[in-house]
Amino acid sequence: MRQFFPPAALRRTLLAAVCGLTLLQAHAAAPLSTIVTPGYARVMVGDFEVTPLSDGTADLPMVDLLQNDKAATQAALAKAHLGTPTTTSTNAFLVNTGKRLVLVDTGSGALFGPTLGKLVSNLKASGYQPEQVDDILITHFHPDHVGGLAANGQIVFPNAVVHADQRDADYWLDAANKAKAPKDFAGFFDGAEVSLRAYIKAGKFQPFDHNGEVVPGISSYSSYGHTAGHTSYVVESKGKKLVILGDLIHVGAVQFDKPSVTIAFDSDGKQAYAARTAVFGKIAKEDDLVAAAHLQFPGIGYIRANGKSWTWTPANYTVRP
Ligand SMILES: [Zn+2]
Repeated sequence: MRQFFPPAALRRTLLAAVCGLTLLQAHAAAPLSTIVTPGYARVMVGDFEVTPLSDGTADLPMVDLLQNDKAATQAALAKAHLGTPTTTSTNAFLVNTGKRLVLVDTGSGALFGPTLGKLVSNLKASGYQPEQVDDILITHFHPDHVGGLAANGQIVFPNAVVHADQRDADYWLDAANKAKAPKDFAGFFDGAEVSLRAYIKAGKFQPFDHNGEVVPGISSYSSYGHTAGHTSYVVESKGKKLVILGDLIHVGAVQFDKPSVTIAFDSDGKQAYAARTAVFGKIAKEDDLVAAAHLQFPGIGYIRANGKSWTWTPANYTVRP
């Protein structure tokens, strides 16, 4: 009887498969990689390159912070597969206009614990250095937006001029207001002071007191309420627009459906709700691209009207610049 031998090529394949199997069995299971997910993305707005930068995430007790029926908040979070406390992104946005490198907000620096303060490392990972930043636009003086300006009282962005609404500077840098404010807010005043002081001393703080172009292609848009001088920014190039909201929304899973829900951090909840309605209305009408500080990173997408509610459509992802 003729014995069957598989052809040489097949024999080699079978041998490789058996060896591979043996090798596979000899390997230990791969340990989980604990490397933190890189935190930058890229989006073009006309000729401007926009780089959303993650400062990290914080677990926040949103059920208590949101001014809403707690069971309703819990149910809305659960529906979105979010836990309590709720892991919340902090995002900043770097805009390269081709002439100037502009950073909108700076993250938390060391003011908010070890899960935040990643902005500078993500800025570097995205291909830029802190000394290349020409201008910093601040939406408001809360520590998760100004904390990254300074480290141990020293300027982190040595060639940058900081811009913000005069009203926020007047409020948060005034010791008399700190004395009058609820004790819980004392840290906010201290955070603003320690973050801004070095820039003010060096003559690198240029506040504004009306809406207008702050740097070529980027204008301020007052959205007071979350703080006295809370400001959104409109980035415009070649007829394309991006509206950087700041803190007009914190928890998409709750506040898009029910925009009347405010948050304990609002200086004036009623005014913050009115600002949310006004700005979202304008954005939805003009179908502008939106960037949000606390929606899931990268926080870039579109807001549409849905009766008295809003819907959020994340922008599509691309590897192209
Ligand atoms: Zn914030």
